[in-house]
Amino acid sequence: MKRLSISVRAMVGLAVGALVALLAGVGPASGVNDGGDPEWDYAENGPTTWADSFPTCGGDFQSPVDVQEVTAGEGGAELVFDYDRRSDVTVFNNSHTVEAEVEAGAGSIEVKIGDESKSYELLQFHFHTPSEHELSGYDQEAEMHLVHKAEDGSLAVVGVLFENGRRQSALTRIWRDLPDVDDEREIDVRHVPLRSLVPAKADAYHYVGSLTTPPCTENVDWFVLDRIDTMSRGQLRELRHIFSGLEFPSGNARPIQRTVVDDLDAVDLSRD
Ligand SMILES: [Zn+2]
Repeated sequence: MKRLSISVRAMVGLAVGALVALLAGVGPASGVNDGGDPEWDYAENGPTTWADSFPTCGGDFQSPVDVQEVTAGEGGAELVFDYDRRSDVTVFNNSHTVEAEVEAGAGSIEVKIGDESKSYELLQFHFHTPSEHELSGYDQEAEMHLVHKAEDGSLAVVGVLFENGRRQSALTRIWRDLPDVDDEREIDVRHVPLRSLVPAKADAYHYVGSLTTPPCTENVDWFVLDRIDTMSRGQLRELRHIFSGLEFPSGNARPIQRTVVDDLDAVDLSRD
């Protein structure tokens, strides 16, 4: 397996607590999947009502956030991707997102800070349109979330934003048969180029936030790539088509919850 490495440079004024929380994996997290719960949606029971049924959704450390891009300082942390070149996935629509569940052991990340390191296993990736995170006040056409879980239950999510441009070939096989909201199939997709889902070179930002869907579990370590990737107009249209209409007046994206500047770590991503 080829490794994709990210070295994390802590920025000036970095919140040490965020890194400690990252290593300690504060508390077990649940609700990894984006839902299936009928009590919430993106319309009548939309984001502004979620806290009524899921109190954590009203918390102080919620996601998504507007990432204010800032100049990074030097630090000593590193994030290493270890994804299989290709893997079989199971694709389904849980009525909130299109999700691809990966096989156990197909992908993992390791976060190293000083002498300590912690690994997270890739569980699934899924999509939002438009994007949930913003970079310096700008949202994008779509966003992919790669959800990882550590042995102690703590979560680390890598967010990749997409704009209209070149076709995303890593997603071609999945996009061949994208399940609609009322489609209950579990679709086996073989030989998905897992490693290609993450770009070879990029910068990213780290902050501590939450799941962007109920139960909005907090203490999630977010790594939002600064490099905006692309999908073709056709790929974006297919995704938007699924998450549009009366049930999705604003797509399947939760609005920005806050702006993050101080508690942000710059991440330098590169392939070995
Ligand atoms: Zn998500």
